[in-house]
Amino acid sequence: MTIRSKLTYLFTLLFAALLLVFAIFIYISSAETRKDEYYKRLREQAITKANLLLDAKVAPEVLQLIYKNSPNALFQEEVAIYDTAFNLLYHDAVQIDKIKETRGMVQEIVQQKEIEFSQGKLQAVGILYNHNGFNYVITAAAIDEYGFTKLRNLQYSLLISFCSAILLTVFTGYFFSQKALTPVADMVDKVNEITATNLDSRLAVKNEKDEMGELATTFNSMLNRLESSFDAQKDFVSNVSHELRTPLAAIIAELELARDKEHSSEEYQQIINRTLNDARRLVKLSNGLLDMAKASYDQSEIAMREIRLDELLLDARDAVIKANPAYRVNIIFEQEIENDDYISVKGNEYLLKVAFINLMENGCKFSYNNQSNVAITYFKDKVILRFSDTGIGIPSTDLAHIFQSFYRGGNRQFTEGHGIGLSLTHKIVTQHKGTIDLVSEVNTGTTFTVEFPHV
Ligand code: ADP
Repeated sequence: MTIRSKLTYLFTLLFAALLLVFAIFIYISSAETRKDEYYKRLREQAITKANLLLDAKVAPEVLQLIYKNSPNALFQEEVAIYDTAFNLLYHDAVQIDKIKETRGMVQEIVQQKEIEFSQGKLQAVGILYNHNGFNYVITAAAIDEYGFTKLRNLQYSLLISFCSAILLTVFTGYFFSQKALTPVADMVDKVNEITATNLDSRLAVKNEKDEMGELATTFNSMLNRLESSFDAQKDFVSNVSHELRTPLAAIIAELELARDKEHSSEEYQQIINRTLNDARRLVKLSNGLLDMAKASYDQSEIAMREIRLDELLLDARDAVIKANPAYRVNIIFEQEIENDDYISVKGNEYLLKVAFINLMENGCKFSYNNQSNVAITYFKDKVILRFSDTGIGIPSTDLAHIFQSFYRGGNRQFTEGHGIGLSLTHKIVTQHKGTIDLVSEVNTGTTFTVEFPHV
């Protein structure tokens, strides 16, 4: 069932229930009023007749004749007058006798002075009436035909208005719920139009403060996130293909050169060396990309354990020097290690080593003396590592972009690279709940400060 139909049903049901309670209340209170008013009328009729008979001394035959000739004798109030000893003094129409008075009834009237009762639709009153020091018991009974007709009319009117109101509610409920849900239908249409080719489309926000506006805004911010990650993916793919193309083109050119012309063995040696270098660059790039993919895994998929950072730094230094024997890496402990826990963090050994190697290599790579220094300071709650060099430094205009994938600074001519080392390092550090900052001065040197919490 659609929300629109549900809303209409609920709205109608609620309104019908309210209307029903209202109609029942009106009917019951009208019926009660009719009954009370008719008892009052019966009482007045009883007293009027007693006065005519006892005060005005109108002959009983005359009164009976008037009663008999009234247009609707059956519904006329029929009055009977007794003395307290149950002797009948007057009766409008003995032959009709709507209620059968009994001695007990007369005694009850004498005792209670006034009684009201009904037999089916017939209503009756009995009153004790004092005239010139004598007590009389008067009864009056009739069916309130006029009142019942009015009540029946009220019943019909209520029924008709109830049905028309419900019908109207169904239509207005349907109309209003349709109107209220139009923005949702519009949103569905618009969202259906959005594909990978028009991810820049956004939903219209009519009123930011209402629920529909909030929904559209939330959806738009989701689209913003999707669009930027989609763009990042596109950039990444185009950067990767660009980085792959350059060494591959160089390898092909070298090999074509070797094939197309006779060379001396020395020249062949040079061609092989250049091709090998390009191939190594490709391996380095593909390793970097693989590490990037590993670092992008969900945190829960990465195996984490307690790792001693001093040992890991020594391993990283060995790996750097093995790959480039000309590089120097000095590891400096600023304090004695008193507690193993203070020098340990919870992390992934492989990824952390990749990050440290990148920072050490960059320090060596971008310095004339090919040297990088790593200082370790630890505290109860965190470890601070400073990777510094006295190299060529980073131009200040590059600092804002330095951690972006494939970004290479203005100093890139100094040495070769792909621009993925720092972005990978940043990703790994933040994944370990750490932070990375840098200060750099051109021709003076660069210091990267990495902080890891112990937890
Ligand atoms: P790559 O070293 O392959 O170029 P990175 O992502 O490791 O890529 O570094 C990005 C850029 O940051 C480098 O191209 C360089 O401009 C700058 N950079 C990084 N580390 C240093 C450093 N220690 N000294 C000077 N420049 C650096």
